[in-house]
Amino acid sequence: MGSTHNSYHNHIRAIGNMDVRILRKTDLDTRLIIEGVDTPYINALRRIILSEVPSMAIDEVIIIENSSVLHDEILAHRLGLIPLKTDLDTYNLPEECPCGSEFGCNLCQVSLTIEAEAKENTTTVHSRTLNSENPDIVPVSDKIPIAKLALGQRIKLEAYARLGKGEEHAKWQPVSACTYRYMAKIEMDKKKCDACGDCVDVCPKGILVKDREEVEAKNIIECTLCQDCVDTCPIDPAAIKIEGDENTFIIEIESTGALPVERTILEATSIIDRKSQEFIKQLKAAK
Ligand SMILES: [Zn+2]
Repeated sequence: MGSTHNSYHNHIRAIGNMDVRILRKTDLDTRLIIEGVDTPYINALRRIILSEVPSMAIDEVIIIENSSVLHDEILAHRLGLIPLKTDLDTYNLPEECPCGSEFGCNLCQVSLTIEAEAKENTTTVHSRTLNSENPDIVPVSDKIPIAKLALGQRIKLEAYARLGKGEEHAKWQPVSACTYRYMAKIEMDKKKCDACGDCVDVCPKGILVKDREEVEAKNIIECTLCQDCVDTCPIDPAAIKIEGDENTFIIEIESTGALPVERTILEATSIIDRKSQEFIKQLKAAK
């Protein structure tokens, strides 16, 4: 009982002292240090980002003409995987849209068309060929190849993009990567260490440096906890100790371009918040 009690209080204190530091931040790529949280919290954030933050993707395609070598299904699949710029403030998830229609409306669906023909030479149809009815909902890159057409081949189609979630299909994930790892805690026993430098040579990230007969750790953020330095230390037990800090994480998020990373994180936290509020509501109602 005693240990449960203690860990509960440690947890509360940790959440109270949350601290976020930005290591790198652009719309496409962000790296943060989050201090004072635990693994379940950071993992919930990661999983919500991957599977529940909505983004826009093509979901239905009406092929009017396709004389390319690609089957209609392959063409539709390729279109679905093109990341589209997403506007979460204007569009509704189809299941939440007031229209309630399977056909969708202009608040839950965007139409994009392609009309392409190889008139003179072999031509590649790129994402820039997609003609959107809303100039804000367009492919994040205009250079994504969709199909190659030989002379005389044609593609004519209408595609419908909708908001969706990664839990249904990966094409709706707003991020291409979302990972976290523990921040390293490196301890040097300076009494035991004879500064032989073996650990300095073996560290694949070059974190350890020999400075005047002493080994020091610099740029600890890069440490991947590989333990090579510990294994190579000729002293037994090793004069260096490396472990993960269970309350400090380095989280890296790379956007597909559908949403800025900051918006993705804000959406994820408000989803966690909504779920918690719903839990409290249900708990009170269950009394
Ligand atoms: Zn609608």
